Amino acid sequence: MSNREPPTHLEGFPASDGIALGRVRRVDWQVPEAPRATVPRGARHRELDRFERALQRASEELEQVKQRTEARLGPVEARIFDPQILMLEDPEVVEGTKRYISENRVTAARAFEWRMLELTELWARTSHTMVLDRLNDLHDVKLRVLGRLLGLPSPWDLGGGGDEVIVARELTPSFVARLDPERVRGLATDAGSRAAHWAILARSMQIPAVVGLGDIFDRTRDGQAIVVDGRAGSVVIDPDELEAQRFERRRTRISGWTRHAPAGAPETAVTLDDVAVTLRANLDLPGEARRAREFGSQGVGLFRTEFLAVGRHAGPGEEEQYRAYSAVAETFPSDAVLIRVFDLGGDKFPLFLRMPAEGNPFLGRRGVRVCRDEPGLFLTQLRAILRATVHGDVRIMVPLVNTTGEITAFRELLDAAKEQLQGEGVPFRNDVRVGAMIETPAAALAAAELAAASDFLSIGTNDLVQYALAVDRTNTGLAHLFDPFHPAVPRLVSHVAEAGRSAGIEVSACGEMAAQPAGAVLLMGLGVDALSVAWPSLPEIRNLIRGCRMRDVREAAAGAIGASSTAAVRRALEKPLAGPPEPGLSPGDP
Ligand code: PEP
Ligand code: MG
Repeated sequence: MSNREPPTHLEGFPASDGIALGRVRRVDWQVPEAPRATVPRGARHRELDRFERALQRASEELEQVKQRTEARLGPVEARIFDPQILMLEDPEVVEGTKRYISENRVTAARAFEWRMLELTELWARTSHTMVLDRLNDLHDVKLRVLGRLLGLPSPWDLGGGGDEVIVARELTPSFVARLDPERVRGLATDAGSRAAHWAILARSMQIPAVVGLGDIFDRTRDGQAIVVDGRAGSVVIDPDELEAQRFERRRTRISGWTRHAPAGAPETAVTLDDVAVTLRANLDLPGEARRAREFGSQGVGLFRTEFLAVGRHAGPGEEEQYRAYSAVAETFPSDAVLIRVFDLGGDKFPLFLRMPAEGNPFLGRRGVRVCRDEPGLFLTQLRAILRATVHGDVRIMVPLVNTTGEITAFRELLDAAKEQLQGEGVPFRNDVRVGAMIETPAAALAAAELAAASDFLSIGTNDLVQYALAVDRTNTGLAHLFDPFHPAVPRLVSHVAEAGRSAGIEVSACGEMAAQPAGAVLLMGLGVDALSVAWPSLPEIRNLIRGCRMRDVREAAAGAIGASSTAAVRRALEKPLAGPPEPGLSPGDP
């Protein structure tokens, strides 16, 4: 690795797990402006024809990308290309462009470029992730069609190289779908979010990715050495020899645990002093269930269902949902599978819901609050989940609960779904468990009341940290302030664990905090019964649990509750983390 320049450390957001060491390959997505020529009156039809042909060709190409993605990754990932295919037929895109060609005597390329600019302006007035993703799709479509109209080479062809880390301002789904994980080691972008379509593809393809790095594109040059830590959400440009070695060691260590993960059988994580901790997986897509099982997961602690809503023009039907839920339940026939109902609002706005624009969407109609406005959507989902209960120990999780009234209203909706199925003679488990997610300080402090109304509680640490610290979890400029080790966090978690214990119900934790070794130690020590982490982190966290003593872990957590600063909380957790799982590794390793 080069040692000519001092290393630059950048913090972003983890978007796809894994550690990549490689060389920077910058990818720019700017399309040159279409020439400003006007066309003679008689040439209008020629331009209209050219536009039609370009659309046709783009649509064929996208269908091919979709088919290849389906063969390579599966139907859910392939559906990511549907919104783009639909855009090529969308009157807003097509008729708008044709109107400009006809009325303004401009080339097809110029007319299309104008229309795309207009739509981008129109859609860009909000910063909601789903709208941003739609913009990202629009950009992808623009590159494809305009490239064809201008006779440009495909921007998706990278050409030679190997061990590359793609650095870009932003990426697109069709670019990522074409990458070869043998050659492209990692991805690092200025913008983007974990929920972006391309990030979902990167996770499916197991290419490590970090998003929201702000200005990494401008900071890098082709060929520079770079490390992408998709687990921590950080990047090092020009790492020095020592740092590169540490990452290499960590990568080797992770792949060692991964290789030794039990094939197929769920495996208990037991501490050195014989305390068993339930370790489950978080899933974003049904296809991940198989991988989680291969990694020895004891079920699913959080199955996010928003993949069924992303980029759709219509709400997902009951059959499609039933298939997705039952496939996951069947993968874990004897373990708990916690399915979270749609967590919409905040940064997730599906196209089929006309949700009003809000000044503070994370403090707006979000999570369980949307159930009241959209009972039909949730009734269909609950019917599908109930039907899946016959395939395993399926449980239902409700996001962003603050009051017992919300749980009561949710249970009424569930009862309505049960009544319908009963009337139709469709089998389901009547005793399905319903749990509240604890994601706000209000919920944490009212955990005793919420526990009395719930069959289990699950702490969503991503949101709990966001709301406790008043730090927007999607604001890249505030990433350094988003700290789960602020003393307020262990105190809130401890309150929830205590409430669960008194009520005799399980308390689990399913945010990213559980996938950080110090976070896992803290949560366990505070009395959380089950941890749920993104499936690639299972081997590391299991190994950690096996290498520590619960006695030390509890002592450390007690120290963390009493700590007066973030640094003191971290210090309190050092002892249980110090027992190296392998000889020769220092606890300070990344
Ligand atoms: C959380 O908030 O911690 C959580 C698990 O839910 P999500 O990240 O989907 O909001
Ligand atoms: Mg949440």
